Amino acid sequence: MDQSPLHFETRCIHVGVEKDSSYNSVITPIYPSSTFYWEDTSTNKGFDYTRSGNPTRKALEENIAVLEGGIDCRATCTGMSAINAVMHLFKPGDHIIASDDIYGGTYRLFSTVFTNMGLQFSFVKMGDPAAVRAALKPNTKCIWIETPSNPLLNLVDIAEMVSIAKSAGAITIADNTFLSPYLQRPFEFGVDVVLHSTTKYLNGHSDVVGGCVVTNDKTHSEKVSFIVNALGLACSPFDAWLVLRGIKTLGPRMEAHQKGAMALATMLDQHPAVEHVYYPGLPTHPHHELAKRQQKGFGAMVSFDVKGGRPAAEHVFKNAHLYKLAESLGGVESLFEYPDTMSHASMTHDARRQAGISEKTIRVSVGIEHPDDIVADMKHALDTI
Ligand SMILES: *Cc1c(COP(=O)(O)O)cnc(C)c1O
Repeated sequence: MDQSPLHFETRCIHVGVEKDSSYNSVITPIYPSSTFYWEDTSTNKGFDYTRSGNPTRKALEENIAVLEGGIDCRATCTGMSAINAVMHLFKPGDHIIASDDIYGGTYRLFSTVFTNMGLQFSFVKMGDPAAVRAALKPNTKCIWIETPSNPLLNLVDIAEMVSIAKSAGAITIADNTFLSPYLQRPFEFGVDVVLHSTTKYLNGHSDVVGGCVVTNDKTHSEKVSFIVNALGLACSPFDAWLVLRGIKTLGPRMEAHQKGAMALATMLDQHPAVEHVYYPGLPTHPHHELAKRQQKGFGAMVSFDVKGGRPAAEHVFKNAHLYKLAESLGGVESLFEYPDTMSHASMTHDARRQAGISEKTIRVSVGIEHPDDIVADMKHALDTI
């Protein structure tokens, strides 16, 4: 779905960025101005008020829209605000199908705020298309796709979900945060709306929180623009500028991330202290073939179960020094975390166990350090358990 003959990496750097005709700055300026003056009562230069539109934010939006292969994008202040925006495409009584292992914050938003507002949700095992078909109702308006899932890296067959949704007259929305448009472009499989937490790989430097909604047709684009402006969800020009700067290196960063992830997963897979590795790049992963078909690479999130449960996990957290014990992902520095008490603490104990998250599970966001260093550091921590 190339909209331009330029390669992805080139588009990351060039699309949308030229916004300064006054001084020809090479880098997009930050326009902190909240308001823009008019020449007369019917003429302005395309911007009037920063909640509605801002040149720095516009540069980011034009850039991401092209990277995803969409027609339009709205950059929001967090990933959750992007999700909040798209949920306003629905009205009370509408039914939405989502996987039972979607991002915890999304699950919380759906099962509390939007359930209280009259939307209906079914959470199913989305790896099983039959379960999705069985969950369809006459009022089903959307299938919510998040692939790969967090923290166990289960994949959802995007094309299959699109076909089920189309047969039911519903739309599909994909949260593409875990792979970025460099590795997966849901529009190519017929998805209607794509969103991101730009906090993760798009910005890539753990120094901003942000989100975006990308659309691929005029109706959705107009609705999302209206909602983002009406609800006041847009990101600040400063944050937009940081994400735009991060995106310039998205391609090379993703390649480096994946190289480290594959090296780490391979070592973990052979280590006697490790019970199981969850990484779609390993040929033994149940969705390895689907990953090869649907993604351009395997990404850089790796989870594993360590033998010995929580005390062994604590040992790893204390003894692997290049990894910081922190939530979030997608930054240049490697992080690891303990889903049971950290990223997935908002789930009930039973829900975590049912999803396959145990006291043995460690999630790693592999950074772009040299693979030899991050592998050796983790191996040392496991060797000394
Ligand atoms: C982090 C994340 C979000 C939420 O984004 P924020 O920027 O933290 O609001 C949504 N979906 C996925 C898959 C995420 O990883």
